[in-house]
Amino acid sequence: MDKSRIEAAERDIIAELATSVEGYKNLTVLCDEFGSRFGGTDEDRRAVDYMLQRFQEYGLENVHKEEFMHNAWTRGPATLHTIAPLSQEFKCISLPYNVASDVEGELFYVGHGTPDDFEAAGDAIRGKIVMANAKSPSFFHRGVHRCEKIGRAIAGGAIGFIWMRWDPGLLEETGAARWGKPVEVPCIGVSREAGEALVRMQEKGPVRVRIHTTDTVKPAPVWNVVAEIKGRTEPDKVILIGAHYDGHDIAPGAMDDGAGAMVVMETARALARHKDVIGKTLRFVLFPIEEIGLGGSYNYVNMHRDELDNIEMMFNLDGAGRSFAQPGVQLYGKWASLFNFFRSIGKEMKQPIQVANGISLYSDHLPFQLMGIPAGGIREFSDTNTGTRGWGHSAADTLDKVSPRALEGTAAFMARLALRMSNRTDWPGRRISEQAAQEALGPEYMEVLKLEKRWPFYEWIPELVTKP
Ligand SMILES: [Zn+2]
Repeated sequence: MDKSRIEAAERDIIAELATSVEGYKNLTVLCDEFGSRFGGTDEDRRAVDYMLQRFQEYGLENVHKEEFMHNAWTRGPATLHTIAPLSQEFKCISLPYNVASDVEGELFYVGHGTPDDFEAAGDAIRGKIVMANAKSPSFFHRGVHRCEKIGRAIAGGAIGFIWMRWDPGLLEETGAARWGKPVEVPCIGVSREAGEALVRMQEKGPVRVRIHTTDTVKPAPVWNVVAEIKGRTEPDKVILIGAHYDGHDIAPGAMDDGAGAMVVMETARALARHKDVIGKTLRFVLFPIEEIGLGGSYNYVNMHRDELDNIEMMFNLDGAGRSFAQPGVQLYGKWASLFNFFRSIGKEMKQPIQVANGISLYSDHLPFQLMGIPAGGIREFSDTNTGTRGWGHSAADTLDKVSPRALEGTAAFMARLALRMSNRTDWPGRRISEQAAQEALGPEYMEVLKLEKRWPFYEWIPELVTKP
């Protein structure tokens, strides 16, 4: 492709996104009209139709939805009481995939709930209701996710689990207890303040608590929303740009991940103005039910098993568009071979691109990564990591936390990157075997996947996955 045509398109893309608030307008509709877009709800269905319409209006190609069934979870009221040494009620919420339950037992607090904390607790958690806080401490060598803490508590014989938010502010924090299917023991969330009060009560003697929950699960259809710009020179090669559009049921999920989903749509909209300079095919996918089990991406990979070799790279924009920091590329797995490629694109763009390797088991890149496809995302690099989610997964994940300029700025970066990648013929990435992908993940992370009951890959949620 002629360099001057690419540069002219790029200038228009930058100008278009810098002077538009289309992404923020769409995010406002998503949050205000379709609520949390939680899988299996009517709001989810209407959000899907809305996004399909926008893609069509923007001139995308092959716009369609791909249906599959999932286990829709519906929240019911939950209560938490202490029985001894004091009788008190504490505000709580169920964690997704908790089901109706009534349990009583002694409270055991494992602090941050790192593997070391659980090892130190040993058999003392057997038969108890375990409480862990939501911080992933920087002194442990990797992040420790809620699902891992729950997995360790259950493996150690806990009969219930309480998830204590770490950030103060009287907010409960949600998050799936098990992914895609009911969890074995009652799992609830409490605020930092409620959790601290429970810990203090232990000074008066062993604390007995009672948990009562009323949640339900039943099958419902959900949809991956797909749109494309067919490559003009190498149509069979695909760069996939995706993000989940669902939030948790207690909030609009404006940051997590309405913003990321709208970065995908804005990237698509800007690039669709220049179809004639797209070299490789760009495919845009908006995933449902990420929050409760990566269901959209798992099913996408499963339903497209025959075509996975064509996907050169998967960009997961979960978390993109929330910050003004310089965006860079986060690679998941061991893809050091791609560093120089992205740096050279940065040179073309006259904008240094920070690249990093990392591992995360907790978003939609994972199914692609486990299939050996180079997977990464756009990351706003900063050196401050609190080890918590901020507003994410709380009722306060609302529209006011998102800036239209940050959203459009990230879309401009993604669009330029995609435009230039689609025209490069020297992509050094290639799909590796599933075995090699597992080895790249390493035994420690594979162990965590097993603890969280999402391994083997296709079998962990058989009732969710649609067989091709
Ligand atoms: Zn997310």
